[in-house]
Amino acid sequence: MRLTTEERIEREKRRREEANARMREKVAAARKLGICRCGGKLDTKPGSTRIYSTCPECREKAKASANRYYREGPLPPRAIPPAKLDGRLRDSTGVRRRLERDGLGRVAWWWFASAAVNGRQRIRRWAVDKYGDRGAWRLAMAQRREWIKSK
Ligand SMILES: [Zn+2]
Repeated sequence: MRLTTEERIEREKRRREEANARMREKVAAARKLGICRCGGKLDTKPGSTRIYSTCPECREKAKASANRYYREGPLPPRAIPPAKLDGRLRDSTGVRRRLERDGLGRVAWWWFASAAVNGRQRIRRWAVDKYGDRGAWRLAMAQRREWIKSK
């Protein structure tokens, strides 16, 4: 299955939205049981039967965050969008796929191979658009294996 970068971004967005929806459901279910999203216990508002939607700790955190927002305003937008849209490790071998900007400002998927050779960090990447997903992954794995052998 070959996907364009747009399709991959679309798929990642969908994955995130689904994960957010699952989290919302989980929090709502926990709240019915009197458990906060952090796992703490929910407390009742003094002098009433109302239950707070978060535990005292989370309320303090939210208060601090709101205070900071009031004083300093929103965080400045990042100049470069996060490079790790799909930063999940493929495996623990030092080979991973990332969405990154290339030298011309285009966003593209790459497979990265990295290894420490003679105390130096080596990194090399292969474009998914050029070699295909499996092809780029295979090249990265081969390079990684070679580096490990030469170490
Ligand atoms: Zn909490």
